[in-house]
Amino acid sequence: MQKADRFYIGGEWVEPLGSSTLDVLDPSTERAIAKVALGSAEDVDRAVKAARAAFETFSTTSVADRIALLERIIEVYQSRGDELARVLMAEMGAPAGLARTAQVGAGLGQFASALDALKNFQFEEQRGSTMIRHEPIGVCGLITPWNWPPLLICAKIAPALAAGCTMVLKPSELAPLNAVLIAEILHDAGVPAGVFNLVNGDGPTVGSAITAHPDIDMVSFTGSTRAGVEVAKSAAPTVKRVAQELGGKSANILLDDADLATVIPRDMGDVCANSGQSCNAGTRFLIPESRLAEAEAIAAKAAEAITVGHPEDDGVTIGPLISQAAYDKVQRLVQSALDQGARLVAGGPGRPAGLDKGYFVRPTVLSGVTNDMTIAQEEIFGPVITLITYQDEDDAVRIANDTVYGLSGFVSSADVERARAVARRMRTGMVHVNGNGLDFAGAFGGYKQSGNGREYSDFGLKEFLEVKSIFGYG
Ligand code: NAD
Repeated sequence: MQKADRFYIGGEWVEPLGSSTLDVLDPSTERAIAKVALGSAEDVDRAVKAARAAFETFSTTSVADRIALLERIIEVYQSRGDELARVLMAEMGAPAGLARTAQVGAGLGQFASALDALKNFQFEEQRGSTMIRHEPIGVCGLITPWNWPPLLICAKIAPALAAGCTMVLKPSELAPLNAVLIAEILHDAGVPAGVFNLVNGDGPTVGSAITAHPDIDMVSFTGSTRAGVEVAKSAAPTVKRVAQELGGKSANILLDDADLATVIPRDMGDVCANSGQSCNAGTRFLIPESRLAEAEAIAAKAAEAITVGHPEDDGVTIGPLISQAAYDKVQRLVQSALDQGARLVAGGPGRPAGLDKGYFVRPTVLSGVTNDMTIAQEEIFGPVITLITYQDEDDAVRIANDTVYGLSGFVSSADVERARAVARRMRTGMVHVNGNGLDFAGAFGGYKQSGNGREYSDFGLKEFLEVKSIFGYG
């Protein structure tokens, strides 16, 4: 792709200062589809200088101007939706339907959510003799993973622009091409030079140059808990704010009155969408002990209905995993579960029949899993469901909360009030009652080692704002 060999800094596509590149692979074919430039600390510095210079003016723009800017971005983004979808199909193997609707649509939804928040936010409020002002925090470093690229990138860019901040984005080196298109969209929509800057590269070089940079005021990071710890350490000496959106290991509690024949296929489809590569995937299905046999039979049938294949092929519900490393990790975790005493209900190690090239894995259901097994504690990031039994409601809540993560939870019951009561007991930033109901009007983020930030709506906007009290307004 044109421009992946350059960075977008100060409103222009500029040559990198170094010459390292990385092949971007199509995970369905394992073939290189582009070369992306890998930046250096000097490239980051150049981008930070552009962002700092632009902050002088952009931080003082009116709310009306920023509303108009977000509206223009939404228009241009919509006109480039098909191109974005094609890039996502190629660089992350997202099936056509998922790429066009969920993946591209979620990025658009983030601009709409930030726009709505901006229109309704009170940037100044008087409390007694004090004027409280919410001011843009400054130059922001944005670091994102590859699994929901437009959603995760726009969940940072949109509120940062709404707040009046300037920024340097480093997307994942595994799927960097969509970010090049997003930079073009912002440019064409008239985002002023230096407000948005893009530097590609790897985590240890470009990522850590951003997190350690003394002239970056805030880092918004989405990625693994492992990298999040490194980000926090690197940001600590300059005491910059760090908003973290990290890994998850969500439980899905099926209460004893749940209609398993409906709930299990619905929720397996939800976990396996995007090939199971979602941070909030509810992979730990908690099943009442008395209903395990029934659950296994339903899950086995539901796994057969998930069609793995190439993104452009008709009827395909899930594509490949992102990389060889991701493929190896899923194989290792499935094998570890079998070694630790779990039983295969569907799928299993190896590739689906007929898919010998590409990082395709078999939709897999494991039963007889206990919560202390590696597969129940580590993120899988593949289309793998584990069935874990519980004795009673207290036991279900205890197992659900028995993890270092706290991103999401799921609970289903024929009695919605009963499900809501269980939702209140789950130690997670989000709970879905009776099916995935993710809504950009809410707040996205986790408890515990799933992070400390919140994205979407006014919660996302506030991450990019400082609070100033001006006393003496009596
Ligand atoms: P990752 O942690 O390997 O990488 C994420 C980003 O961080 C990439 O851009 C990477 O280059 C960069 N990075 C890596 N090491 C770094 C360092 N030391 N300093 C600075 N930057 C560094 O994660 P991934 O494999 O790209 O994505 C999958 C992970 O992201 C999963 O753990 C998933 O749960 C998590 N995730 C969380 C959310 C959320 O909102 N909570 C959303 C999507 C994905």
